[in-house]
Amino acid sequence: MLRPPVIAKTPHDLRVPPNPALGWEAARRALSGLPGGGFNIAYEAVDRHAAGARAAYPAIRWLAAAGADRVITYAELSALSNRFASLLRGLGIAKGDVVFVLCGRIPELYAAVLGALKLGAVASPLFSAFGPEPLKTRVNLGGGKVLVTTESLYQRKVKKITAEMPTLRHVLRVDTDAGRAQIAAAAETPRIERTTAEDPAFVHFTSGTTGMPKGALHVHGALVAHYATAAVALDLHPDDVFWCTADPGWVTGTSYGIVAPLAHGVTSIVDEAEFDAERWYRILREQQVTVWYTAPTAIRMLMKAAVTPPPLPKLRLIASVGEPLNPEAVWWGKEALGLPIHDNWWQTETGGIMIANTPAMDIKPGSMGKPLPGVEAAIVEKGGDGVSVIEAPNVEGELALRPGWPSMFRAYLGQEERYRKCFVGGWYLTGDLARRDADGYFWFVGRADDVIKSAGHLIGPFEVESALMEHPAVAEAGVIGKPDPVVGEVVKAFVSLKKGFEENEALRSEILAHARKRLGAAVAPKEIAFAPGLPRTRSGKIMRRLLKARELGLPEGDTSTLEEAA
Ligand code: AMP
Repeated sequence: MLRPPVIAKTPHDLRVPPNPALGWEAARRALSGLPGGGFNIAYEAVDRHAAGARAAYPAIRWLAAAGADRVITYAELSALSNRFASLLRGLGIAKGDVVFVLCGRIPELYAAVLGALKLGAVASPLFSAFGPEPLKTRVNLGGGKVLVTTESLYQRKVKKITAEMPTLRHVLRVDTDAGRAQIAAAAETPRIERTTAEDPAFVHFTSGTTGMPKGALHVHGALVAHYATAAVALDLHPDDVFWCTADPGWVTGTSYGIVAPLAHGVTSIVDEAEFDAERWYRILREQQVTVWYTAPTAIRMLMKAAVTPPPLPKLRLIASVGEPLNPEAVWWGKEALGLPIHDNWWQTETGGIMIANTPAMDIKPGSMGKPLPGVEAAIVEKGGDGVSVIEAPNVEGELALRPGWPSMFRAYLGQEERYRKCFVGGWYLTGDLARRDADGYFWFVGRADDVIKSAGHLIGPFEVESALMEHPAVAEAGVIGKPDPVVGEVVKAFVSLKKGFEENEALRSEILAHARKRLGAAVAPKEIAFAPGLPRTRSGKIMRRLLKARELGLPEGDTSTLEEAA
């Protein structure tokens, strides 16, 4: 079907006027700061509401995967997070210590993260679909002293690796009798550490082409950006029912699944269960969700599902992030759900939304939108020691941001050099290739590096290759993202075998199972192909680009550094 290139602003703007362009300063003024000075995310998100008119207002409507749902008011969330703060303090956790939280989407996850922030500790939620290997790597990189988890995750993933996490002093299992007793016995009295806007608050792990994951450090002051962008890009108003479907183990699920909606005093929906089209439509309808923030993979899964969407009269805005959103999906939203999907762009390092099709703008399906107020974005090209801005429209280059937005990451934990390298000539280089059109809309082109985006999750090929190499039969491994119509990319591995091992189906299944056990379903390869030898550069690096080109039957490009062909 031939469709116009622009979808005009939707009439919902008239029902609830969008927030005015809320810059950083205005957002700062809208937040209160700690009484007596200082700034703490948990205070802004919970306690100031709990101390005011919103005390009895639902902060979270928690939908259980099985059993009874729960409504948690701001006052209750404040009290529960106080208990976690006391409990963690009692375990010897102090300001600056890293608290890892590995739970499904259960209320304790939210309370533990907020409790850690109250204590001035650095919270790091981990994705519960990670296997032992990625968990261990992250806890060790963060020097985690405590891990808050559940009995089942402990048994399945943590128990066998506790000895390999030398900094870890405590594992708190929140749903055991002992864990429950500890929480119940912890003091409910508030005692918020006097943090400043520049004190560390979160570590979110992300991946690059080479080496192990990077721990992006964010500060309490990042909330200014969460607050402003949730107003401008997600149009949050106090009476909204907001559903962010991302897991808090990824940055979206923390920035917009925990802190931004709470800071706005809205009611958040938290669904413990995994994706299911019928369930999701039921939630949207029954919970009367007004603003829904989701991801392209989920939208494509809904498009594919044999379920007719119900009427959703309360829904007034749908936004999406994390991977390219095809124009087809934007239009599907409009035609099937009555609302187009507003794509936006950001990444772990930016901490919050940077570029968006806001509700106050016409949408260009296929485009990520325009930089938000306070964000300066450009398309640049590297040259010499620095970068130059490409002023002409529609020219591909690297997407760059002018440093200084409040939620900018402040470090990669323990990797100063890697952090420094992200900033060149007064710009932060995002690692994404993009172009800007004559109207100022940005269009995603691809990644400048080899990281893989599968179902919205960023996966570092090196981490997968390392786990594969630990299998006794594997001599070398090269991992690529293979395009997939639903999840964007699936992880595909090429492995060559050590002498004495034979390529056969049984061994392929065994290596797949090995990878899944170590890495978890979210990270492990879905496909493995045997290759007699992998293409390498003369300096010995596996040429993943070449593996990918061959897989897709594309031109091999520059192979001048190729050492040996497979
Ligand atoms: P993460 O740090 O895991 O949030 O992943 C960030 C990366 O996801 C970005 O650098 C992009 O490569 C990709 N990404 C995020 N949002 C979009 C979008 N709207 N369109 C295309 N790619 C996106």
